[in-house]
Amino acid sequence: MTRPIGRFRFMDEQRVNLDGFAVPDVDLGLLAFDSPNDPEPSLVIADGVVVQMDSRERADFDLLDRFIADHGLDLVTAEEAMATSELAYARMIVDPGVPRGEVVRLAAGMTPAKLARCLALLRPAELTIGLTKCRARRTPSNQAHVTNRSDDPLLLAADAATAAAFGFREVETTVPVLGDAPSNAIAVSIGSAVASAGILVQCSVEEALELEMGMRGLVSYAETVSLYGTEQIFIDGDDTPWSKAFLTSAYASRGIKMRVTSGGGSEALMGSAEGRSMFYLEARCVALARAIGSQGVQNGGIDAASVAGAVPSGVRAMMAENLMVMLRNLESCTGNDALMSESHVRRTSRTHPIFIGGTDFITSGFGSIQRYDNMFGPSQWNAEDIDDWLVMQRDWGVDGGLRPAAEPEVARLRERATDAVRDVYQVLGLADFSDEWRDQAIDAAGSKDVPAADLMTPLSASRLIRDGQVTMLDVIAALDETGYELEAERLLAMLRARVIGDYLQTSAIFTEDMQVLSLVTDPNDYAGPGTGYQPTPDRQVEMDGIRQQRSVDDLRSEQASFASSRLASSGPADVQHDPRDVVIGVSPATGRAIWRTLCGLTVDEALAELLAGLEEEGCRGRIVRINDTIDLGLIGLTAARLAGSGIGIGLQAKGTALIHRRDLTPLANLELYSVAPTLDRSAYRQLGVNAGRHAKGSTPEPLRNPYSDEAIEARYHTTVVSLVAIERQCCAPGLPPETLALEEDRR
Ligand code: CA
Repeated sequence: MTRPIGRFRFMDEQRVNLDGFAVPDVDLGLLAFDSPNDPEPSLVIADGVVVQMDSRERADFDLLDRFIADHGLDLVTAEEAMATSELAYARMIVDPGVPRGEVVRLAAGMTPAKLARCLALLRPAELTIGLTKCRARRTPSNQAHVTNRSDDPLLLAADAATAAAFGFREVETTVPVLGDAPSNAIAVSIGSAVASAGILVQCSVEEALELEMGMRGLVSYAETVSLYGTEQIFIDGDDTPWSKAFLTSAYASRGIKMRVTSGGGSEALMGSAEGRSMFYLEARCVALARAIGSQGVQNGGIDAASVAGAVPSGVRAMMAENLMVMLRNLESCTGNDALMSESHVRRTSRTHPIFIGGTDFITSGFGSIQRYDNMFGPSQWNAEDIDDWLVMQRDWGVDGGLRPAAEPEVARLRERATDAVRDVYQVLGLADFSDEWRDQAIDAAGSKDVPAADLMTPLSASRLIRDGQVTMLDVIAALDETGYELEAERLLAMLRARVIGDYLQTSAIFTEDMQVLSLVTDPNDYAGPGTGYQPTPDRQVEMDGIRQQRSVDDLRSEQASFASSRLASSGPADVQHDPRDVVIGVSPATGRAIWRTLCGLTVDEALAELLAGLEEEGCRGRIVRINDTIDLGLIGLTAARLAGSGIGIGLQAKGTALIHRRDLTPLANLELYSVAPTLDRSAYRQLGVNAGRHAKGSTPEPLRNPYSDEAIEARYHTTVVSLVAIERQCCAPGLPPETLALEEDRR
């Protein structure tokens, strides 16, 4: 086998090539849209009963067809809906003149094949507009995973508080060890209540246990009921649409917010796609979700995201799934859940149109913990990416559901959450935690940082919770008893809200003062530019205020912390005639308002290297501050004209440097060291050497910028803007150059 050429060897090493890509295969269901086996849309109603749907006669209906036909279609609008052309309906979705209510009304009468055909016509930008217009709730939100490999209750509490601090309104936990579930549910509930009221909590486990925890008030939402687009998978799982409907009702009837889970590619993954396209099968799932009475769906990139992502247009189909949920008037929790690519570019590309479009929950599981602690498997977005997400919100001025959180506040919340769980577990007799464990959990970035955790504790605590029939009321009483009245009140408010039931309306979340935002109380009213959700001015300020932003004043005080220089002025500078005389012209702020260059050396250190380099060549360096310009070319040229050798070095306080000669024009320097952040002592030394060689009339080999693939400009340009502003304030037109000397270090 011949070796590929270097360019392809290099490309093969890039992260995207760790991903798997499939050749489309109709028989295996490995295609996104429009399989030749997808049925022609049709609907025939006789005496109020659907007798034919999507080219199948009632006698031939499978379980899904029957359930959808009998419970999932609005037969009043069906005739009108099915008669509307697919193109006409697709255009209605994006037309701002057609209200959301109208497209939702028509969708209710459309069969799965019909709606799939319509949505397949939308291009990606149209899908984005579709999300903006058609989601149920006006205000976008986001959901977090809070898990860890140890099921450590203290770390779960600290991380739940952290997730709530960053703005997540739903927090989902799960377990690597099933028996740990009740402990996890309590720890996450307490932790999130420390940071905010109204956080909805889920513990994703096997249904019977999850329902039991829900009935004890330990969790407040569920999304574990999974739907599939072919009958065989229901049969394999010993399930039917009726059993799923029953379970859905069981959750909702106990005041537990309920959505189902589905997503394109799962049928192909489970080997039962019947040769249909992923999108058509998902259209059946979404119709079924509506039919069984779920208030919402998480789909588009859940467990089978990488399967959908492996086929052409698969990412587009996942986004279209989300829009389909919205058109069925359900809450859309828009996937972006399981990590579908090792490539940062590709996973960002997959999420970004949804992020800017805005949805009910932009991710159905942002791993607010580190990748290795995500017991669902790494998410598309994880703790590694929280700062990225916050910056993306700021870049685009859009609300992605998160908010910046300051370190001191998060530290305070983590400590309180950890202590609250420790005290509650002690009062309820569930576990004792050492101080060492507590301290590690507060500080930890992940479970690897908590070696003191005892892995048996969550299991024994959970057994005691189940044996002792512990309910959320017991937890609340324990919180109240140990001095956590605020958290007790917040969790009690959640129990109260579950009895009232307003948050069982479609797409409900709680604000921090326990107001329900839902399809009913906060309906999406987007109707083109100037309408729909806009962050309030306060919310915008909150999102824009990321902790990394710096002002000129910030930079000035940062520079002031380095304010010590051995540079001293000794009066006006004159022209000298010694042929060994080389002048180092420095910028106006040097040693007065700026003391440190961008590479981290002090101005003194850079100057000392330049002088030493000149000395190596037998030249004598003279430092002169050029006071009347901040232009480096002019600084260097002015220096050269003062120098006996006719050679000058120009140095800006931020570290950019050049070599000039008195007979050249300002821009035509001899050597330029433009990338100041990458310079170091040896570079300044070499610059001095080269200037000395120019002074002696020889032609040294120019210094090259070092190899770098870093975003130097992104990293430093804002700093440069501020430093230039500081230079300009020090600049005094007409003020002559002055001689400076580096005094002996008196330390
Ligand atoms: Ca989820």
